[in-house]
Amino acid sequence: MFHQIRRWACPDLAIDLGTANTQVAVPGAGVVLDEPTVVALQKGSRRVLGQGTAVGKLARQMLGRTPDSITTARPVQDGVITDFELCEAMLRYFLRKIGRRKLGLRHRVVMPVPGSITPVERRALRMSAERAGAGHVYLMADCKAAAIGAGLPISEPLASLVCDIGGGTTEIAVLSLGEIVSSRSLRIAGDEMDEAIVESVRRNYSLRIGTQSAEQLKMRIGCAAPRDQELTAELRGLDLVSGVPRKAIITSEELREALAEPLEIILRHLQTVIEHCDPELVSDLADTGMVLCGGGAMLPGIDVFFQERLGIPVRVPHEPQRMTVRGAAICAEHLDRWRDALEDEFRDG
Ligand code: ADP
Ligand code: MG
Repeated sequence: MFHQIRRWACPDLAIDLGTANTQVAVPGAGVVLDEPTVVALQKGSRRVLGQGTAVGKLARQMLGRTPDSITTARPVQDGVITDFELCEAMLRYFLRKIGRRKLGLRHRVVMPVPGSITPVERRALRMSAERAGAGHVYLMADCKAAAIGAGLPISEPLASLVCDIGGGTTEIAVLSLGEIVSSRSLRIAGDEMDEAIVESVRRNYSLRIGTQSAEQLKMRIGCAAPRDQELTAELRGLDLVSGVPRKAIITSEELREALAEPLEIILRHLQTVIEHCDPELVSDLADTGMVLCGGGAMLPGIDVFFQERLGIPVRVPHEPQRMTVRGAAICAEHLDRWRDALEDEFRDG
């Protein structure tokens, strides 16, 4: 009875605090918030604009269209909090926005974190969430959450391979019997793809473009394998020599060349993770293959690229960028049953 009242008055939540996007899911209601992990500030001050409301979508809308006195910040870099205060302010606003807290109760929260997170970073994350209004915080490995979200049979004695390509980090893990048996967390992901595009445009066109324009190009015509029909896009940048604005046309083929380097690095790490597995598990992978998730999995042809190079089947689930928060929400739904296991996973005392 008490549990039912609590669930109604203050449901358990899943919060995926990603480098690029923050998502909140409520068991039974699905993803209720999905906004960029961005805040807008008055330049030279630490105060979030709009009395604390200029975060997420609103902050991103301000980006690039703002007077010089306004700046934006990303409080999470490479999967960990780099600005504690701003992160707390952002989470507080998000929790207020979903508005599911009654009777002064505090949400219990399940948060996926990168496997490489340090104890200090974990403490910062817990404190940030608690000060923003969360009650008890349960941490779980990103990859495990993503695997559960994608419906993989992780508690069976069968290997499952998951690769989550986010904004700041790529998380790779092989799971079996509910445990991570081999894993890697690398700081090469969507942001580095954007950097690679900036660099390629600079080299091939003598034009300077920002990382945001690079990201837009990646989303519009980027690809990891040849397209049936190659696409083109217009790009605008500053001429490196004269400093004046200039336009150019870039093709999807050129973007593919630019993206090859970060993709090859991810590939090498995938191979290492597989090599570190028991031969029995490796032979499972030939059948079970790999699930690709995170926003990076939306790059067209990325499944084909990894499938050809790894020689195992690769699957991209529907809405790959939501697998992690979905998996965490499944844990939140059964929190009373799973909480001991979650406490054991990252025990900080
Ligand atoms: P995080 O968990 O780190 O917040 P996400 O899983 O939300 O990250 O993924 C964000 C990344 O996915 C960004 O780098 C973004 O540029 C990239 N992304 C989103 N859509 C696409 C797309 N269609 N093609 C390639 N990359 C994409
Ligand atoms: Mg993520």
